[in-house]
Amino acid sequence: MSRLVFATRNTGKLVELRQLVAELGLEVIGVAELERELGRELPDAPEDEPTFAGNAAQKARTCAQASGLAALADDSGLEVEALDGAPGVRSARFAGTHGDDEANNRLLLARLIGVPAARRRARFRCAVALAAANGALVATAEGECAGAILEAPRGSGGFGYDPLFYSDELGATFAEVGVGQKGGLSHRARAMRLLLPALALFSRLQSQPEGGN
Ligand code: IMP
Repeated sequence: MSRLVFATRNTGKLVELRQLVAELGLEVIGVAELERELGRELPDAPEDEPTFAGNAAQKARTCAQASGLAALADDSGLEVEALDGAPGVRSARFAGTHGDDEANNRLLLARLIGVPAARRRARFRCAVALAAANGALVATAEGECAGAILEAPRGSGGFGYDPLFYSDELGATFAEVGVGQKGGLSHRARAMRLLLPALALFSRLQSQPEGGN
């Protein structure tokens, strides 16, 4: 497989994913870049499944069918214990507008006013899915990482809820560390690491000439 499209318009995710699959020597192209190349828009999946895995599969299959390329997709989000797992699959549009990180972070802090540190436990979860060029689902995997929601943002890197998410393992927020450190243990990194063997095998099979053995 010479090329793989990553079904996202989120540049933060694209940067992280390129780093995670670098060892496979794949060319990973994002949706926005591919649309410029094709000169047409690609449809977004509705993301209306109740689970991260369901949404990741839906995104990968929709993107593969529309582009004619094998597609990788992720669906991820934050689950906060004191909010009974919210924002969960609605993380990107928690405050209403899809991808409005500032509004989402403000709403999260507002919902947690008065909640003591011991009850601010949270985890990031991610599901990844690989679909073949014909839209068939090839493999899925999931990963998560644990932490807590701070009372105020810390750090200027990353995206989404990164400045509010204090990672237990890093002893810092995801926004205080670089892509390299986050990429070692993030929910997305863990899910991708589990998917890598399937991706490597799929890639080898795709690059074999037809009828070869
Ligand atoms: P998705 O594009 O549907 O997977 O939405 C994921 C949403 O969850 C993002 O818009 C962020 O708000 C949040 N999110 C997922 N992963 C991360 C992360 O690594 N850091 C910060 N926020 C994240």
